[in-house]
Amino acid sequence: MRKKIVAANWKMNMTQAESERFVESLLLRLDDITDVEVVIVPPFTAIAKVSEGLGKAQNIKVGAQNMYWEKSGPYTGEISASLLRDLFVHYVVLGHSERRILFGETDEIVNRKVRAAHAAALRPIVCVGETLEQRDKGNVEKILSIQLRGSLAGLNPKELQETVIAYEPVWAIGTGRNATPAQAQEAHAFVRHTLHEMADDATAERVRIQYGGSVKPENARELMTQPDIDGALVGGASLDPRSFAQIVKAARDK
Ligand code: PEP
Repeated sequence: MRKKIVAANWKMNMTQAESERFVESLLLRLDDITDVEVVIVPPFTAIAKVSEGLGKAQNIKVGAQNMYWEKSGPYTGEISASLLRDLFVHYVVLGHSERRILFGETDEIVNRKVRAAHAAALRPIVCVGETLEQRDKGNVEKILSIQLRGSLAGLNPKELQETVIAYEPVWAIGTGRNATPAQAQEAHAFVRHTLHEMADDATAERVRIQYGGSVKPENARELMTQPDIDGALVGGASLDPRSFAQIVKAARDK
């Protein structure tokens, strides 16, 4: 049984004061949640505030939106896995389509970061997904296969099991247009099929695959009750503690 995981990707939003208020409000709404893993992924500037605010809340972890693969040194503007660990960060989102498209991240770059994250005991949330043009050309499976094999190359079974995959069709991110539950399930089943080809069956069955792309309280339940959808990576709707808490609660429903 895979434990559902729901993450809030705040992107380049939320001051320290806003983050503090969000955490206070979320804790009131989710204090009884133990059956869903919740991850808050603030901008770097708010990580310390969120970690502090969460305190001993065991069911809610902190993530980062990116990192560099080197351990330390002359890399101005970058941040390492160990510096994130120092702020009690557990997860790191890697290969988000905004980083792939706006900042030129390739599967090889994502793979270096994924391996560096594991080496520092940070769990990566690795994003994959096709553009609308690729979908219209019938290339969804080809693109997913290339991204998965490239981004996850060289991981051992334990590392693979501790990796979360986020299937995020680029055309659904921030557009208000989510994949239908059937479209998402089809892509998730293909992701799992690819994991079966890359690793042993037990490993492939343990990897959690989140759906991301315009998840809202209104569509969350139907998406997350699909057999291969193990949670959600939420952008826009995660900026409001009430709607994010509703999405987390939707992950509990069978
Ligand atoms: C995201 O950026 O990971 C995302 C899924 O955004 P949104 O929920 O706003 O589509």
